[in-house]
Amino acid sequence: MGFDLRARLAERRAQHRYRTPPLMHSSCGRTAVVDGREFLNFCSNDYLGLAGDPRIVAAFRDAADQWGVGSGASHLVCGHQSPHQALEEALAEHCGRKRALLFSNGYMANLGAVTALVGRGDAVFQDRLNHASLLDAGQLSGARSRRFAHNQPDALASLLARSDAARKLVITDGVFSMDGDEAPLPAYLDACEAHDAWLMVDDAHGLGVLDGAGRGSLWHQGVQDRVPVYMGTLGKALGTAGAFVAGSDELIETLIQFARTYVYTTAMPAAVAAATLASLDIVRRESWRREKLTALVQRFRRGAAELGYALMDSKTPIQPLLVGEDADALALSRRLRDNGLLISAIRPPTVPEGQARLRITFSAAHEEADVDRLLMSLEAACTQHAYTPAR
Ligand code: PMP
Repeated sequence: MGFDLRARLAERRAQHRYRTPPLMHSSCGRTAVVDGREFLNFCSNDYLGLAGDPRIVAAFRDAADQWGVGSGASHLVCGHQSPHQALEEALAEHCGRKRALLFSNGYMANLGAVTALVGRGDAVFQDRLNHASLLDAGQLSGARSRRFAHNQPDALASLLARSDAARKLVITDGVFSMDGDEAPLPAYLDACEAHDAWLMVDDAHGLGVLDGAGRGSLWHQGVQDRVPVYMGTLGKALGTAGAFVAGSDELIETLIQFARTYVYTTAMPAAVAAATLASLDIVRRESWRREKLTALVQRFRRGAAELGYALMDSKTPIQPLLVGEDADALALSRRLRDNGLLISAIRPPTVPEGQARLRITFSAAHEEADVDRLLMSLEAACTQHAYTPAR
């Protein structure tokens, strides 16, 4: 066969799945400059509008003056500096966990945590729509991987009942990244507790956004004391970069000993940790950001309902518009771009076949008028493309 890369790329193009990163000429915010033109940005995960916050930038700059740019080594060698320690303690406190452990990003946190907890002879149970990093982590662990129907506790319970694995790890996104809906955590915990399984929640899209103080999905659903493994990312609502896993003393010690993506990699720059500490403080105190975000989301959903669009069952800032065919989603995204809006067309394999969509995300940096412009532009794009979304 050989490495016929040209044929593979051509096939990808023919499937309307060829992707290229848009070149951004501005920081992440309400608007974004792409190829010299300014767009309203409805596709970032900067849910609270903090990625460019001057207070966080100042904390980053001050810490870089003191700590330099690179940490110089992995945590276990000599890369674990005071800002890392302070951030781990603050994150643990914020999430109501005994301890937290930093990773360079969410992908690595998931690979590290899952492979440290399970291996051959064990079983991993994942929601069908879990993030790619979780699915990869399950594969890499060597444990038997099972997937259950999206947000279906009964499907999970019947898989658990039939499993005789030594250790059973159930994994779910707290908020689903491409759908915006929330996992039914209390029902999962009932199933886990009945079958001696552990639950791991990836709260990349819930942390900072859900719960009055931004403590995420567990607090929002009242199960903060029942979930043994909690993972959060720092590159979304917190506006910086990196990730962490939080839980008991024993969990964190286990990760320090066995999570290869913690042990064998350079610690994040201390300045990122310091910036995140500043961000966390803002996330906790400035609840108006979550309130504004909720109001913007509600305004959008009301407007979309008036236009007759069937939206997905999401109360979070992720408000996808299901389109179906890849080519239609791409065409609509291009039309919106012509109208000055940046919204990405998400296609398989990121979402299931036949479920291409516009992934619209809101930020506290948006204004009501931005939502109104989005609604008008959506209507115009659908008309121009002679496309009728599900109604
Ligand atoms: N989990 C989920 C649910 C995500 O959406 C993402 C990011 N897209 C990640 C993990 C990975 O996090 P990071 O971007 O920090 O690698």
